Parts: sequence; C-alpha cells; structure tokens
Amino acid sequence: MAEAGTFADRVKQQADIVRVVGEYVQLKKAGQNFRGLCPFHSEKTPSFNVHPTRQIYHCFGCGKGGDVFSFVMEMEKCEFPDAVRVVAEKTGIAVPRAKERSPQERKQNQQRSAFVEMHREAQTFFVQQLEGTAEGKAARAYLEDRGLDKSAIDRFGIGYAPSGGDALLRILKQKYAEKLLGDSGLVSRSEQGDRMFDRFRRRITFPIANESGKIVAFGARALGEDQPKYLNSPETPIYSKSNVLYHLDRAKEALRRSDFAVLVEGYMDAIAVARAGISNVVASCGTSLAEPQIKLLGRFTKRVIVNYDPDAAGQAATERSISLLLEQDFEVKVLALPGKADPDKFIREQGADAYIKVLKESPPYVDYLIARARQMDLSTAEGKLRAVNFLLPYVQKIPNRLLRSEWATRIAQQLRLEEPVLRAALSRAAAERRSEVKTQPELMGRAAKPVERRLIRMLAEGEGFRSELAQQLQQGQLYHGLETEKIFTALIVASLSGEPVQPTELAASLEERDR
Ligand SMILES: [Zn+2]
Repeated sequence: MAEAGTFADRVKQQADIVRVVGEYVQLKKAGQNFRGLCPFHSEKTPSFNVHPTRQIYHCFGCGKGGDVFSFVMEMEKCEFPDAVRVVAEKTGIAVPRAKERSPQERKQNQQRSAFVEMHREAQTFFVQQLEGTAEGKAARAYLEDRGLDKSAIDRFGIGYAPSGGDALLRILKQKYAEKLLGDSGLVSRSEQGDRMFDRFRRRITFPIANESGKIVAFGARALGEDQPKYLNSPETPIYSKSNVLYHLDRAKEALRRSDFAVLVEGYMDAIAVARAGISNVVASCGTSLAEPQIKLLGRFTKRVIVNYDPDAAGQAATERSISLLLEQDFEVKVLALPGKADPDKFIREQGADAYIKVLKESPPYVDYLIARARQMDLSTAEGKLRAVNFLLPYVQKIPNRLLRSEWATRIAQQLRLEEPVLRAALSRAAAERRSEVKTQPELMGRAAKPVERRLIRMLAEGEGFRSELAQQLQQGQLYHGLETEKIFTALIVASLSGEPVQPTELAASLEERDR
C-alpha cells in the first residue's frame, strides 16, 4: 500500500506505531513489545500486542493485525488516504494538499517510477563499465588497493562511471525525455543550460538504496585527484538524503536480530564494517545524522553504537548525533577508535576481530562525553565551568530522573566538583530553562582538602621519602584535576630532581593564588 517514495511511505517510515496506538489504547511494555486491552474485541486480560521494531500490531484474542495505517483505518473507520493524513498529523509531518490521484499526482507517480527505472539502468551500466572496460580495470586496481576484492564489489554493487562525459546519457536518451533526464540526478546541465552530460565521471560508484532496496541515488568517489573527492546524487523526487540510511535495506534483519545498530559516516566505512561480519551497520552518508533518519532507524532498534571519524568534524558530528538520538529515546554508546582511525582504515590495518573486540567494549555515551570534558583544562575555574556547560545539554536531555541523578554524581566525581553544589547549579539551570550554568564561584573555586594539604606538606618537607612519594603520585596521576594540581606538578618535578626543595624557587614557578 505504501509504495517506496510516496507520501504514505514517508509517513510510515517516520511514524512510531507505539505512539499512535498509544493514543487509543493504554499500552504497557512487555519484553520487546507493548501490550494492552484490545480495542477491537472485549477482553479483561491484554492480548493486544504492538511490535515497535516491526511496526505492526496483532491481537491473539480476535486475530486482528496490521500496520499503523490499518489500525487507524479500523479505529477511525476511514479509508487509506485519510488514515495516512491522520498518522502524518500525529507524527508532525506536513500534509500536502488533499487532491488524491489528481492528474498532477498521477504524473508525479509516473515520474518517480521512471526515475527508479533510470537508476536501475545506470547501475547495470556502471557495473558493466567496472567489469569490462580498460578504464574499469584501473578502477578495479584502485579498489583492490583499498582491500575490496571481486566478492566485495559484487556484494555491494560497486561500479564505475567512465570519464567520457556522456556515455550514460546516450543510453538513457534513447528512452527518456530530456526534461526527465535533467531532473533525475544522473545528468547535469552546463551552466548555460544548453548542454547535458553525465553527473558522475571518472568515479567509482556506490548504489544507495532506500529501505525497500530500490536504488534511488549514487555516491561516487573520484578515481584521480578530481574534486570533490566524494560526490553524491542531488535531492530528487525519489531521494532525500535525510530520509535514507545507507545499507539499511540489507541491515534490517540483522538489526532486528541483534537489536542494535552500528552507525558510521560513509559508505566505505559501512562496507568495511559489514564485511567484518557486523551486518547491522548503517551510514548516515556524508551528512550528519538527520531526525527522519533516526526515526527510520528507530523502527528496527533503539540501541546505537556511534562510530564516526575521530577527527574534529567527526567529534562534532558524534556529539550532535548523541543529542538527536537521546531526543528520540535511543540508548547510545560511542566507539572512538584508537589511533585516530576511521572504521575502514582500522579494519584494514587491525582486522575484523580487533574491530569486533573494541566494538563490544564501546562505552555508554556518558563516559565518552565525560572523557571529552576531561580533555578540557580543568585546572581553572573557567575551565571547569566550560566542561560543565559542555555536558549540561546532554544531562538535560535524559528523560529519566534516576539516570540524570547518576550522571550528576559521575560528573562531580570525574571533574572533581562538589556534588551538592553541582546538583544545585544543574537544577537551577533546569528551572530557568537555561542550557548553561552561570558562573558559580563556590562550584568551581574549591579549596584544597586536608588530604591534599597533607600530601603537599609531605612533598615539601619529607626528605627521606619525598622522591618515592613523588614517583607514586606521578604514576597514578592522582593529583590530576585537583584544584592544587599546579602545586603538585611543581613539587613533584622538584622532588624528582633529587635536590632539596627550595620554597622561594618553587614559589617563583607558581601563580599568585597557588603560592
Ligand atoms: Zn482483539
């Protein structure tokens, strides 16, 4: 009923059946599913089940079942188009003007089918080019270099767009009108608009399929030094990048079975991870994750391990994704690969087993973010304030109070803040709907604790064991993040030198307030 690319299909992808049904039936979580009293027959014990991952409902009492649209049709006693509208409204999707099957709409449907067909033909063409031409041979050599052998090429439909400039165009022109070709995303127009040519030239092509497995776009990597290095299809009537997750069509079953997804940035990463045996991988594909993509993924699982590139852009994308995923009630872990590697590079260099091992050890996003906050300079009050304000928006997104409270404890411990003061500052920010803590001198400018004073004294005066104590403190890095960190650093350096500690020299190396 909901054909790929149609409005109904888009609504279905974004709607959450549990929420929609939940407006009619009181549902309780029962294992993976939700259960309630059937609205279609009279019963005292619940036998009406809603499956969030499969997006269907079923009643074991009366046998009724279906998807979100058939549920609304039954409840509202309406026809399919009206049910689509109702679900769209409940999901917050703007409904196009209601002219069902107008000549206009029929034309759009025909166009979409033509675009899908063109992409199928383009795919056949690209695959032939990679397999059977001299240019394609160079592309195969490149792929081999990247560790992609014949079986990988076949499995992921990798192809090659030749350098000629109109080879694909000439084939498509035999069947399709010029106007249609221009809107397909496969063909570009010259700036004057008088000439058309292939959009992808001298590039390795990766087919991008929608959820039901139809190719709706291509990603393409330059074979030489051409810019941009990666070129994707533009937005077309059948492709909107924020509505598509690369590899989802092939990952569906594994996502349901394993009940978690690995989220990576690009198609090369997704291919590498899938080949490592983790087929429940999807890629947000060049762009950072968008809300429709998250809703789409949420139909299969609500648990995600984010494994983006560890560079600055990747870190920013990771943090943005965490926010969005938390808003949609996902359970989020983050894998930051050692050695600044992206998944593709890591797997090529370390192997699949090494990847699976680190994947299994991925920490919850909490630990990832705290680790990021700890990289900030925590030795000053301003630095601590920055770190707290970096974490605060995430804390505020945690819907569960208990979890939120656990967080506060851990942040206080890890950033070495006074917990009650941090809590007070957090709840003040929440009450005033602010996403940052204003300057709190009492929160940040903490005095040295007795044990810190005692250790400092021992370092300064304990002639006999000073250097051993200094060594121990340094190895354990026990003084890191303390208000007195700078004093410890100076004293430890002095103690390890073996010379007697000179108070005046030491003082000269410290700032005013530490002296
Ligand atoms: Zn029933």
